[in-house]
Amino acid sequence: MLLDSPPAVQATPLLDAHAQLRGAVDALGYGEDVFQMLATPRRELSVAVPLRTDAGGIMTLRGYRVQHNFSRGPAKGGLRFSPGVDLDEVRALAMWMTWKCALVDLPYGGAKGGLAIDPSEHSTAELERATRRYTSEILPIIGPERDVPAPDIGTDEQTMAWIMDTYSANHGYTVPGVVTGKPLSLGGSLGRATATSRGVALVALAALEHIGIGAGGATASVQGYGKVGRAAARFLAEAGVRVVAVSDRFGGIHRTAGLDVQALERHVDLHGTVRGFDGGDSIDGADVLTLEVDLLVPAAVEGVINETNARNVLARVVVEGANGPTTTAADAILAERGTLVVPDILANSGGVIVSYFEWAQANQTYRWALETVEDRLRTRILAAWTEVLDASQRRGTSLRRAAMTIAVERVYDAHRSRGLYP
Ligand code: GLU
Repeated sequence: MLLDSPPAVQATPLLDAHAQLRGAVDALGYGEDVFQMLATPRRELSVAVPLRTDAGGIMTLRGYRVQHNFSRGPAKGGLRFSPGVDLDEVRALAMWMTWKCALVDLPYGGAKGGLAIDPSEHSTAELERATRRYTSEILPIIGPERDVPAPDIGTDEQTMAWIMDTYSANHGYTVPGVVTGKPLSLGGSLGRATATSRGVALVALAALEHIGIGAGGATASVQGYGKVGRAAARFLAEAGVRVVAVSDRFGGIHRTAGLDVQALERHVDLHGTVRGFDGGDSIDGADVLTLEVDLLVPAAVEGVINETNARNVLARVVVEGANGPTTTAADAILAERGTLVVPDILANSGGVIVSYFEWAQANQTYRWALETVEDRLRTRILAAWTEVLDASQRRGTSLRRAAMTIAVERVYDAHRSRGLYP
């Protein structure tokens, strides 16, 4: 087929991840060989996951685990259940985990898993079988000292319990450190379930304060109302921020005077969506991204702020609760407009920080009090915020470039100290 003009290059998470790495490698003065080494995942596993359905048939699902880097320690990162997930998306997400862990100084590399399944279309029994079979397929490459999965989109503490049980059954003893984000009854950490949101709120308040807006006078919109967005909206509201809009995949809700987030949570518990909440006006989900607010928290998936809508983003601060919500093209547009973008690897690092605390508690066989977890989370994430802000001011770059530069330098330093084998 002949085309009049070449097709536009599609933005993808992997291209964005590579562009961000390229920027950091150039800023650090490293060569193309270092870029190639850091752009290439150390290990990738693609597996078939045959699932016996409740109706008795067999569905064959595709699964992945990508271990991007081990220079600073075992690989670490979530497992995503989502119908469209593919190897390239998992590669991007795994790479972002490496930078995130290095930025907040955790002794980990980065990894990510994916299973192409829509959890809303399957019974609990089917999800359990799919999770256990996926786990057994990736069993040789995971473990507390190798690679430690955690929840991500479409997975939760029940998923982690099944992974831990499958892994433990195959080893003949209980291995709590093989996953994080477990139920409390299996050695999960207090504060883990809301840790990502807690971190998002802490960093958002620091960023608002940095541009001279106190929590009391601030307005916010939150796109995505799942594991990250829901509690982030609550924590922001508790800090005095007026949360004027939220959305999920079914639609959005807007109220200029601020949403009653507690009433909204009750509505969502009953109906499974923010849609139909009578404490605000219905709006299109996509419009939540372009409201005139001080703070925008994209807390769903990659690429939602892109070349098409970035010029319409009116928020003064964007705090990335999701991984990769802003494409490279959108990043440039937002920078031109003076929008402060707090990058994902900093903004949503609260989850993996408390995952690390959970793993440390498993290794110590000792449970920390909630205050200990939350104090240490606050200290660590705010230290990273200050470090990134200082670096961005010193280097005259965006917060993302500053964060990436710090992270990439740490990973490369570890690599250099270890040397290349053989
Ligand atoms: N899935 C989360 C993330 O993207 C948490 C990962 C973890 O705790 O290992 O950061």
